[in-house]
Amino acid sequence: MKGRIATLSRLLRERKLSAVELTESYISRASRSNRLLNAYVHECFAQARLAAERAQKLIDQGAASPLTGIPVAVKDNICTRGVPTTCCSRILQGYVPPYSAEAWSKLERCGAVLLGKTNMDEFAMGSSSETSCFGAPINPLNTSLSAGGSSGGSAAAVAADIAAYSLGSDTGGSVRQPAAFCGIVGFRPTYGTISRSGLVAYASSFDQIGPLASSVEDAAIVYDAIRGRDCADMTSVSSASAPSLFEPDIKSITVGVPKEFFSDGVEEEVKVAVEAAICLYERAGARIKQVSLPLFSKALAAYYIISCAEASSNLGRYDGVRYGMRADCDGGVADMMAKTRTKGFGKEVRRRIMLGTFVLSGGYKGQYYKRACGVRAMLSAALEDIFNGCDVLVAPAAPTAPFALGTERRSAAEAYQADICTVPASMAGIPAVSLPCGMTKSGMPVGMQVMAGRHNDGLALSVARYFEREADISFRLSAEVSREL
Ligand code: GLN
Repeated sequence: MKGRIATLSRLLRERKLSAVELTESYISRASRSNRLLNAYVHECFAQARLAAERAQKLIDQGAASPLTGIPVAVKDNICTRGVPTTCCSRILQGYVPPYSAEAWSKLERCGAVLLGKTNMDEFAMGSSSETSCFGAPINPLNTSLSAGGSSGGSAAAVAADIAAYSLGSDTGGSVRQPAAFCGIVGFRPTYGTISRSGLVAYASSFDQIGPLASSVEDAAIVYDAIRGRDCADMTSVSSASAPSLFEPDIKSITVGVPKEFFSDGVEEEVKVAVEAAICLYERAGARIKQVSLPLFSKALAAYYIISCAEASSNLGRYDGVRYGMRADCDGGVADMMAKTRTKGFGKEVRRRIMLGTFVLSGGYKGQYYKRACGVRAMLSAALEDIFNGCDVLVAPAAPTAPFALGTERRSAAEAYQADICTVPASMAGIPAVSLPCGMTKSGMPVGMQVMAGRHNDGLALSVARYFEREADISFRLSAEVSREL
């Protein structure tokens, strides 16, 4: 069902359904199918039932907002008071945060019903959710395929409708790529418009919380509910108070097509589907303009240098003293820390800490970290320049359709290629919506991105919704998954 939030919210307000009944129906779908999907890693059904009762009171008092009583799933790196938050890492096993992330607090105040925390790559490092210490979630459209990553559990939960919508985090593409893989919508907003307070840090200058949903309208409803300046996050920024979505006049829109996003590393089937989507805008009267972003080829390397540098610093706090697990050891404190970090972090996280420490080390900082920051600044400026001549950019969300699970057997450098299309928007901090634009011959989803200039979140969402309505694409769940639901 597209546009789930508005539909469910209307049923609740018209008393055709109670918040408790709605929550129970989601709980029973989730309990039946999660063993197969592995989308939830911590379920909190007892708390959900209480939250549903509280939501019903709000509805009865006429104090409901569109999200009141609607069941949601939250990525396991977003702090939820009283509910485990482990980043799917052994090092945080057993950690129950004493406070909530601002984004989740805002939803909770609206009467949202939290069903549980979703599977992800350990500390959000990856593109297939396979670095999770709980094992990977599967793609509900085809159980042998990846749900993407790092917010793979959040995407799988929405695709299988065991959560009406979810929150994920996007550092280099982790909301947009899993959304593309599961045939749903994912939105990375302008950097800073959603508070990072309570989002466990991976690479702070990129990290953004974003909604995953079954339609662009749903993503916009969630975004409007959680955005805004927060004094607990000094990088957060305020945004206009008007709702994000509007009816765009497509005839006055210039759609930029950045040619590098259609280069060799991108699968033919992906290019064909995205080009067909661009034609839809053209037929509707939009002006199509070829543009070029020569720094595209440098973006991935620069992103990995900067994100690993920030990760090596952010993850320094997991020392066996303050959070989570502590390894048994009979040596001194340094030995305890080394053993805790060796046992507690998985291979990919350790690799990135070492890479980050290396690129920041005295002799190499100028050669790697500073140059990468230079690339980032130039890329942001080039994008700004492009947006002087067009309103939005349309490009693939990922270079491939969903790939098979088992990618941990690929080299790290190969795995990082999955991010080539999403990293540019992350580098520049601009908004980007990922939405299904077509399918492969085997019926798997292809996602495209609609990007806009900083603070033009509403424009990106509105132009994306226009396509969604005109193209009306939907996918069938795999037979195995349907049987469990
Ligand atoms: N795949 C990218 C990485 O591993 C992006 C992850 C993310 O956005 N959290 O860094």
